[in-house]
Amino acid sequence: MKILVIGSGGREHALVWKISQSPKVDKIYCAPGSAGIGELAELVAIGPEQIENLADFAEKEKVDFTIVGPELPLTLGITDLFESRGLRIFGPNKEAAQLEGSKAFAKEILQENGIPTASFGTFTDASLAKQYIAQHPAPYVIKVDGLAAGKGVLLCATRGEAEAAIDEILVRKAFGQAGNKLVVEEFLTGEEASFMVLTDGEHILPLASSQDHKRVFDNDEGPNTGGMGAYSPAPVVTPKIHQRILDEILIPLLAGLKKKGICYRGVLYVGLMITQDGPKVLEFNARFGDPECQPIMMRLKSDLVPFLEATIDGKLHLVQPEWHDDTAVCVVLCASGYPGPYGKGAAIHGLDKFKNWKKGFVFHAGTTKNNGGWVTYGGRVLGVTARGSTIENAVKEAYDAVDKISWNGMHYRKDIAHRALRE
Ligand code: AMP
Repeated sequence: MKILVIGSGGREHALVWKISQSPKVDKIYCAPGSAGIGELAELVAIGPEQIENLADFAEKEKVDFTIVGPELPLTLGITDLFESRGLRIFGPNKEAAQLEGSKAFAKEILQENGIPTASFGTFTDASLAKQYIAQHPAPYVIKVDGLAAGKGVLLCATRGEAEAAIDEILVRKAFGQAGNKLVVEEFLTGEEASFMVLTDGEHILPLASSQDHKRVFDNDEGPNTGGMGAYSPAPVVTPKIHQRILDEILIPLLAGLKKKGICYRGVLYVGLMITQDGPKVLEFNARFGDPECQPIMMRLKSDLVPFLEATIDGKLHLVQPEWHDDTAVCVVLCASGYPGPYGKGAAIHGLDKFKNWKKGFVFHAGTTKNNGGWVTYGGRVLGVTARGSTIENAVKEAYDAVDKISWNGMHYRKDIAHRALRE
């Protein structure tokens, strides 16, 4: 079987790594991939937004199916295009991907179906948004409607801050077209968790729970990032909460989408706040979380490929995954300056020590090769991911590995999984 993976980050490296272990697979292509991914897959120089070229490639090479890593091609309609050309693809179509592509769309679906989420208002007019703010107590969360590379959520402690954010988005157009609309939300408190499921539109297959760390510094301080680390499972998702997420969120959500004639096929990521009243939806992503994908792939005992195929074919009720009964932790190592402007090209030391690492894997998120040696190429550079029989063991394994890796300006969080360790 030939498989094409689209994307180039740590998430795609984890997917390629897992798929490369499948006895069903003879050949993996990755577009555009990275030098790290290139050790497991043949790289194809086509960007994720070049969806016509990707379809041409899949057709020419007789790829059996394609997996979409990042959100952009999904919101551009890559699935609709592939399906119209008779090509099999894993990922929701353009309409379904709006759950991630438009915060306003997601909130409407949640509201229409009585699914727990923060109370909200949607606005295109700055003065109406400010009127709403005046009628509700601080703090507020202001969200740009469209895709904003993880930067479109502004946490505002005061009414003044919220008014300034509204002007930035709707008047000064700081987020361009993505900010033609915004959502003002109630600020929820509790513990965050991620819950990813595979769904074929009819059936739901939950993957292992996980939790990521968005803020750049220890103790959840500093600006938000793409994710500084993650662990799985997340103890906050108890069996009872797990069931509530299915009953109160996912089952009514799929039914609501179906009523609108939307069939969601792919992985659905639900970002949650576990509040005193139970789980409430913060956001949806139409793809695997990054870095959560890395510990989850490490804990998946079964071959991933049959699950991706069952999702595409509407047969998820016929498969059941097996998981390793342990814990996995991913620590993301970043380039100096990240999440602000960051340097590239710093020589990475220590990677040669991990060729036969038994307890984990070092996923590449932003590296390249220069004169035969590894150098940094992205803001998030590596995802050091380790398994352990307990969360303590997995954390120790991961940080022992981190201690062997270095480059000029490398930084990372020292407290990944601190909440799980506390529990
Ligand atoms: P999102 O991309 O919508 O998940 O937002 C990014 C981050 O902002 C989340 O992981 C939360 O930490 C925070 N956030 C989003 N919405 C809310 C909310 N309604 N209340 C509190 N924090 C929020």
